[in-house]
Amino acid sequence: MSLSSSEIHPVAIARTPFAEKFAIPRQPSLAPAALSRIELVAPYNQPEALQGLEQVSHIWLLFRFHGVAPDNPQSPRLRVRPPRLGGNQQIGVFATRSTHRPNGIGQSVVKLVAIEGTSLIVSGADLLDGTPIIDIKPYVPYADCVTSAENGIASDAPLPIEVDWTEEATRRAADEAQRLGEDVKAVLNQCLAQDPKPAYQKPDPQREYGARFWDLNVVWHYPCADRLTILRIELAA
Ligand code: SAM
Repeated sequence: MSLSSSEIHPVAIARTPFAEKFAIPRQPSLAPAALSRIELVAPYNQPEALQGLEQVSHIWLLFRFHGVAPDNPQSPRLRVRPPRLGGNQQIGVFATRSTHRPNGIGQSVVKLVAIEGTSLIVSGADLLDGTPIIDIKPYVPYADCVTSAENGIASDAPLPIEVDWTEEATRRAADEAQRLGEDVKAVLNQCLAQDPKPAYQKPDPQREYGARFWDLNVVWHYPCADRLTILRIELAA
């Protein structure tokens, strides 16, 4: 039996700071300063669909990885190279949280900060802007939190790297924070401390990297392997 997208309807759309995949944290909660709005869509955009959710601190978001091509069952991708293992070691797709997977379904636990009409404000999402949300469920601590759980591949959160700022970038972040009403500096600090570049890449200090957050291009480089400097922030074209 195949699962076609016509059988699964989005219940909401995620509006997030992340306008491209590069530099999105690789799991939720790693950048709690990043606030996202989960906007319910018809026919679910009725306050009664959210009744009771005000008693819940965290929710599960189930979503479609709409920014990658879905796996083709005719030539299934059974093994993938997770960035966590340096990007050059393959393991079974079901042992990973890779975006390349059967049916392209992702799941993230996020903190529910506020309910505004038929939108949910959440912190720490790891979703591309525009991600279709296919279900929302309350986090149930006694059932979902397994204190004895082990994962030999991803046991702890990755160690953050140092993030420095040029004066120019610092000034621009303050201006853009006012315009956008977002804590631009904290979001960039938390996201870039996750070191978005592939783990196998040896960064050339001359090379500039960039990613889009909101409507901004953020440009940085690596003066050495374990720290980066945000060079400038500009409006995206
Ligand atoms: N927490 C989810 C899970 O475990 O299913 C997602 C984990 S996945 C490794 C996180 C990465 O997916 C992000 O860093 C980003 O690059 C990518 N991503 C997020 N939203 C996406 C989307 N809608 N389409 C394609 N890629 C997406």
